[in-house]
Amino acid sequence: SAPPAKPDGPQAHGHQPCALIRSTLESALCVLFQKLHGIADGQNRFRGVVRNFTAELFLKSHHQLDRVETVRPEIVDEARVLGDLFGFRAEMFDEVLRLQLNQRAELEAAIASGLADGEMQVAYQPVMDVATGRLMGYEALIRWERPGVGFVPPDQFIPVAEGSRLIGDVDRWMLHAATRQLAQWRAESPAAPGEPDPTIAVNISGRHLADPRVIADVADALASSGLPPELLVLEVTETVLVDDPLAYEHLTELRALGVSIAIDDFGTGYTSIGQLRNMPVDTLKIDRSFVASTEPAHRELVALMIRAAHTFGLTVVAEGVEEPAQLAELGAHGCDLAQGYLLHRPMPAAEAGALLRQPAGTG
Ligand code: C2E
Ligand code: CA
Ligand code: CA
Repeated sequence: SAPPAKPDGPQAHGHQPCALIRSTLESALCVLFQKLHGIADGQNRFRGVVRNFTAELFLKSHHQLDRVETVRPEIVDEARVLGDLFGFRAEMFDEVLRLQLNQRAELEAAIASGLADGEMQVAYQPVMDVATGRLMGYEALIRWERPGVGFVPPDQFIPVAEGSRLIGDVDRWMLHAATRQLAQWRAESPAAPGEPDPTIAVNISGRHLADPRVIADVADALASSGLPPELLVLEVTETVLVDDPLAYEHLTELRALGVSIAIDDFGTGYTSIGQLRNMPVDTLKIDRSFVASTEPAHRELVALMIRAAHTFGLTVVAEGVEEPAQLAELGAHGCDLAQGYLLHRPMPAAEAGALLRQPAGTG
């Protein structure tokens, strides 16, 4: 194994650690270190710290972040006492945490400039009528082709945007782009008499929904696109509805504008079916995990959700339909609408718009 590292020269740090102090410090820190994370390599890391004589107490650099919380405050205090005694500053920091904070800040900046520089696009996933196979609308999903990086999935950057006010910018951008697009399609290819007028669904994050500004944002998008409000669907997750009274209030105001509200990912949160009765919502979107599940209990639950939603006057959309058998079963249970790779993947605007010009059942 490597020989013990030599401490830096004392001048660099203004200390004069003689050999005795050094070895006392070394063993004291070593004990402390083992208390900190109780692992065998404590000694090596400790030596690394002493070598640089910055005397920062590293937590194991690749450990799980939640381990930080398990460090007891007394141990941190003990480190500070040692620091006072030996003339160094005891500081805990975590490289993983620091790296994550840097990466997050960098990603936030990239999202903001991506929005400003036109790097974002909207993909449209058709929503189909289960019984007739007709196109009933679309869900707008954000797509980001980041220069020099490539495609970044929404799951990788939406949560980061949700950690800051950026999510409002993302949602606003989507609201405007999606309503403008549907208004344009309607102008180009109006629905034939008796044909359904397709809707557009836009995802609204919980954080944005809790912001009073959301009402003006939706009203602005409707005004500038000229889209009739009843053709706009706002998708919100159920947790938002249950947790936040303000969000709840905003939904009521939004509905008063004439737009409809869909509960997204239903079944993954804690809403009971009975709570639906009192919620300011119009549509229930059954989460993909239930639609795809082969467990008998889940299959029964899907049937139950559809029945209950209908009792409360809600429209039901099944998400993530990938198999013909799933679609057939949903149809048997009276599910209204379906969305999924079996029917259509999310697609670029040009392709999605072309579907409006096709007779039902083709393409
Ligand atoms: P979500 O709202 O539940 O959107 C549905 C996701 O399921 C989309 O993923 C869609 O591409 C995917 N999907 C559709 N059909 C199938 C299927 O048959 N099988 C499977 N395996 N997946 C299917 P996407 O586009 O990657 O979006 C992921 C999530 O990111 C969305 O989940 C939503 O929570 C969020 N998101 C996407 N766009 C936006 C946006 O514009 N604003 C906000 N706030 N969130 C967005
Ligand atoms: Ca959604
Ligand atoms: Ca969903």
